[in-house]
Amino acid sequence: MKKSPQIKGTLHSTSSSSEAPTYYECPDCGFLSADARFGAGEIPCPHCHASGDSRRVFPPDRIRRLDSRIRHYHEVGESEIVVILVETFLESTLEDIIDRILASRGADVKVREIVLDGQRAIGARIGRLFPHLTGEEFEEAASEMGFREFPRRWRKIRQARNSFIHDSPFKGPQETLDKKMADEAMDLLDQSYKLFVLMNNRFVADGSHGRTHPAGK
Ligand SMILES: [Zn+2]
Repeated sequence: MKKSPQIKGTLHSTSSSSEAPTYYECPDCGFLSADARFGAGEIPCPHCHASGDSRRVFPPDRIRRLDSRIRHYHEVGESEIVVILVETFLESTLEDIIDRILASRGADVKVREIVLDGQRAIGARIGRLFPHLTGEEFEEAASEMGFREFPRRWRKIRQARNSFIHDSPFKGPQETLDKKMADEAMDLLDQSYKLFVLMNNRFVADGSHGRTHPAGK
């Protein structure tokens, strides 16, 4: 794995990217890797050792399209749109990882739907659902994976988005979401892919017990 320049580029780059990174998914255990040889089926899954001829690209096309539109809005200075879309994106990403964790524990589509519907609020998903499923606080897991500041920065973006959209009776509305906030959001967008992959490989691939298709959709 160390030999692949692609992995180096996607895992260690700190500057803002120009597009969503590309990973490949093992259909047997859900493991994700940026290694192009893994994607091409030239090497077995490093996690479950399945040989691959049907590795899917991650993130899927619709997410890549959304990602490129967000980057476009950022380029043309639509800071408010960027912050709102990135926040929505991050919340969906969290939903996906929780859904994948549930699936890896054998939960069927109906159960996953009930669990996620029963816990719509982002704060409860991070604060209750995630630790119940993984045995770890979200903040703790992120920190161990090298993203200690991610939860705090995400909270800031979420609060800014909420104060902008809602007419808060407590603090009053936030009148603008500026470029600084949009830059911060873009940084979190880039980081979220890496964190998603690390969390996936730890809690989904490791939690898998002989089922197929972790996402199961
Ligand atoms: Zn595998």
